[in-house]
Amino acid sequence: MENLKRYNRLNEFLKEKFGERVLKICIDGGFTCPNRDGFKSSNGCIFCSEKGSGEHIKEFNSITSQVQNYFKSYKSKRANKFIAYFQNFTNTYDTLENLKKKYDSALIDNRIIALAISTRPDCINEDIVKLIKSYSYKYYVFVELGLQTSNDKLGCDINRHYSSNDFTNAVNMLNKYNIDVVAHIMVGLPNETEKDIKDTVNFLNQHNIRGLKIHSTYIVKNTILADMFKNNKYTPITLEYYLDRLVYILTHINPDIVIHRISGDAPKDLLIAPTWNLHKKWIINGLDKILKEQNLYQGMYYAKS
Ligand code: SF4
Repeated sequence: MENLKRYNRLNEFLKEKFGERVLKICIDGGFTCPNRDGFKSSNGCIFCSEKGSGEHIKEFNSITSQVQNYFKSYKSKRANKFIAYFQNFTNTYDTLENLKKKYDSALIDNRIIALAISTRPDCINEDIVKLIKSYSYKYYVFVELGLQTSNDKLGCDINRHYSSNDFTNAVNMLNKYNIDVVAHIMVGLPNETEKDIKDTVNFLNQHNIRGLKIHSTYIVKNTILADMFKNNKYTPITLEYYLDRLVYILTHINPDIVIHRISGDAPKDLLIAPTWNLHKKWIINGLDKILKEQNLYQGMYYAKS
């Protein structure tokens, strides 16, 4: 079996679905987060950077300008079809009217064929789901939901301020409207155990999700995790540990799920540790090597119950 087929990769899924290469346009929609603005907390998740992920988007321009600038850049020459991807912070955390304005202001070019919205599971309600669904007449629409871990105690420790039950409710609501869900989990959270990873995979396998993003915990400047690291309260994971957990996740997760990513985009200028995070190829090639050498593939140990 070729490595290409050992797990379902997003680029192949998109190629099959749309007949050609599809790229993401990462958009900062100017949102905030209830875990940042004081509604639930002001501190944010312990690993969350000041930009709420998407650190590579350096300045906030209007949404339309960001998309226009993207199409003026060399990146847009590498494909003919694109996903408008609302990435930073909580992209459903606003009034319905504002949400519609923001999503509409990204969908300004016929080359955009999909709308992706990243959010927290406690920031979705039926009206928002209906609004998102309204775009499916023309676009492939999917929603990314943070989970990080199914262990609510660990969820508390990382200051997440939502529960795994919130995740279940959000998935069910999105399933009801046939909107694809992509879950986001992390490896290497403080005090995480092997059982936490196993439980999280089992938990995900009980849900109807279409995609999965996995990334390792890394420390960036000006975060609670950076303070914990400085005070010797957190030790970053090694590449070997991460690959070992990745192999477990992939071999036990539902074989139908599309793996959207296996590494985070650690921002070089903000990253404190671990530095191996900057080398995506080490992760991708390291994983491929293990899968090939041990003849492993996605879902080979999948058990729904
Ligand atoms: S939910 Fe996301 S944006 Fe909000 S604090 Fe946590 S990581 Fe940051």
